[in-house]
Amino acid sequence: MNAGSGAPRRAEIAGAGIGGLTAAAALAQRGWSVVVHERAPNLRTYGAGIYIWSNGLRVLKALGALEQATVGAHIGPQFHTRDHNNTTMEEIPINGAGDARLVTILREQLIGTLVDTCRKAGVEIVTNSEALSATPDGELLLADGSKRQADLVVAADGINSRVRDSLDLLMYRKQLGYGAIRMLIARDDADVPAEDRDRYIEYFTGSRRILYTPASATDLYVALCCAADDEKALAVPADRELWAQSFPHLAHLVSRFGGSGRWDAFEVVKLKRWSKGRVAIVGDAAHAMPPYLGQGGGCALMNGLALAVAVDGALDVPRALTEWEARERPITEHTQDTAERLGDMNFWPDDVRSEVMKITGRCVELGMERMKTARYAPAATEPV
Ligand SMILES: Cc1cc2nc3c(=O)[nH]c(=O)nc-3n(C[C@H](O)[C@H](O)[C@H](O)COP(=O)(O)OP(=O)(O)OC[C@H]3O[C@@H](n4cnc5c(N)ncnc54)[C@H](O)[C@@H]3O)c2cc1C
Repeated sequence: MNAGSGAPRRAEIAGAGIGGLTAAAALAQRGWSVVVHERAPNLRTYGAGIYIWSNGLRVLKALGALEQATVGAHIGPQFHTRDHNNTTMEEIPINGAGDARLVTILREQLIGTLVDTCRKAGVEIVTNSEALSATPDGELLLADGSKRQADLVVAADGINSRVRDSLDLLMYRKQLGYGAIRMLIARDDADVPAEDRDRYIEYFTGSRRILYTPASATDLYVALCCAADDEKALAVPADRELWAQSFPHLAHLVSRFGGSGRWDAFEVVKLKRWSKGRVAIVGDAAHAMPPYLGQGGGCALMNGLALAVAVDGALDVPRALTEWEARERPITEHTQDTAERLGDMNFWPDDVRSEVMKITGRCVELGMERMKTARYAPAATEPV
């Protein structure tokens, strides 16, 4: 909606990832004229799956995107963590009555759905368009030299955000010394016993983990996690002999690892402020976190929608952005801090980790803390 009587208000957004597309769709659905600038030549993303919890599903529903995003999604019955002997340390119930909901889909499907939702709402998406910087009065500078003036600029240009850094908003960026190779392969019944096939399972051995994630009826998303200085383990294509040595009970799965994959180091990003004047920072650019809760994208969805809700009809955009941050930052920081703590056990001895996780896995209070974001009701959403 317009704050005054004239033309629709304008938003210029840098980055067509989860955060930028969510903000774009939500703003356009509220009557804004929105242009998204994506540096890449196309809107495709790399082949991997993604976990989306109830909080993210609620945002997709509010955007009118839930049905399309979850066509063919996998809905697992539980999330297990397993120790080096393949003994279950924790079983996290999901998708039952009273539980948080969790679905897994292909990233491609999520991005494709958000792009369609944006286009239906009238958003213009420009590829090969790199943003360089912004000014607090709402000017976005592009690599082709053009300057775009807007009522609102959104920096959703990811963890290495140039727009954020042009405004000196970074408080700190912390390397966690750990990361993952992600890949998609076809599902195969022989990978795990029949009772495990539909589960989400995270297997631990030493400082390495394998995350087993059915992401559709036919796609298996696999994440191989290891220390950032474990050079043999982080090599792409994955070293099958090395991973089979660490996880002999997954030898069949490991033998099927493909030649492709993408390594990402885990980091935490915290900002002095999430906005400066008319520029808001959204998604990993503002609050990157390690993926142990599967909530980085969930927070980008929540904050992208909440941003549009905050500025909708606001006469004073900078003030609306300050209020947006005050409302949304506590749950995001809780999510970042909880996720970071969950990484502490990466370097514990196997036996210690196994004993501790069997005990903590039964602790209701810790379970509630961990599920707090999944159970959170984001602004302007309804239950799914
Ligand atoms: C191993 C791993 C597993 C994960 N698993 C999950 C999960 O299961 N569930 C979950 O919710 N989250 C997960 N996450 C986190 C999630 O992927 C991110 O939080 C999310 O993608 C952030 O979205 P974004 O839009 O902020 O940034 P990005 O996805 O990084 O998108 C930024 C976009 O901006 C573009 N861009 C960059 N610079 C510029 C520029 N200067 N100008 C214009 N465009 C630019 C990029 O090309 C990109 O398209 C995981 C992360 C990792 C590393």
